[in-house]
Amino acid sequence: MENRYERWTRISLSGELFPRGDALEVLTDPTVDILRLVAAAGDVRMARFGRKVKVHQINNIKNGLCPEDCGYCAQSKIAQAPLRKYAMKDEEAIVQEAREAKEQGVYRYCMVASGRGPTPHEAAKLARIIRRIDQEVGIRTCLSAGLVDLEKASLFKQAGLDRLNHNLNTSRRHTGNIVGTHTYQDRIATLEAASQAGLESCSGMITGMGETDEDILDVAYELRSLDVPSIPVNFLIPIEGNPVYDFDQLSPLRCLRILCAFRFVNPRAEIRVAAGREGHLRQLQVLSLYPANSLFVDGYLATRGDPKQPVYRMIRDAGFEIEGEPLPGTPPTSAQNYAIDDNPSILNPKTARV
Ligand code: SF4
Repeated sequence: MENRYERWTRISLSGELFPRGDALEVLTDPTVDILRLVAAAGDVRMARFGRKVKVHQINNIKNGLCPEDCGYCAQSKIAQAPLRKYAMKDEEAIVQEAREAKEQGVYRYCMVASGRGPTPHEAAKLARIIRRIDQEVGIRTCLSAGLVDLEKASLFKQAGLDRLNHNLNTSRRHTGNIVGTHTYQDRIATLEAASQAGLESCSGMITGMGETDEDILDVAYELRSLDVPSIPVNFLIPIEGNPVYDFDQLSPLRCLRILCAFRFVNPRAEIRVAAGREGHLRQLQVLSLYPANSLFVDGYLATRGDPKQPVYRMIRDAGFEIEGEPLPGTPPTSAQNYAIDDNPSILNPKTARV
């Protein structure tokens, strides 16, 4: 007789909507065996993506100076973190960093700019950069630049952008507890603009911000209903000086359950284990490659992550393959992709409290 792990794999692979009660069980039932759960989610992942892992790298192209008040973000107008703020990097530097990322086996180059959304001047500059990366470098691109309307999304599409990122971050219900300067609906509108412009969308969640299990499921099911093909699942990196600053909501096993729930609900989507992987999953990081088929290297917006080589080794040691193998002997990137310099008052993924 079929056990519940086999049933979860079968339902997810069938394309039927994964039952919400089962997703809640994945998240919360203490009798769930985590290794069997991870294997079951891994079967769904293998069916669509095999053993390939897509490695993404973030370039924080504009940092801080943001008028928004997202409570988890060190760049917000209300954050107190000692942030290295800078206006948008120059065109040549961003193109060069894309070139280096490609040489080092990175599958997708993700440009992230702080702010509510790009000004017309910034949008024109971003379009030039995207066009140059497309024509001169030939690496897949993703842009995350805040709220974007159809006109700007179309401009980026015409320039050659593959994907536009805009995370839902949390549920509709919980959004007002996290940010006051924009709404959940603003975020949905950006994803709709991306879709209307013919761009692939990328949208995910930050967990560990005081949300409930139902909030997590709301986001997982909303992303399915929007048919989002790329879902980053972030685990809050608490940064001292930010209003949302919680160490205690996540554990390695909780993170694995969250990733498995996203995988069962979104069997066809690329699921990326994103910020906070190192600090929250710790020694269980490699298990995240069963529900997830993608990860970031070299740090996040404000904090360091693991550099490429140990991450590549972890992937290979577990029998996975990096999509777009790095060239041997390539030098480390010149990009500094995180914006808080080493500072003992900042929790980064390497120093997460245990
Ligand atoms: S998440 Fe983006 S919009 Fe929100 S404060 Fe940070 S940089 Fe600004």
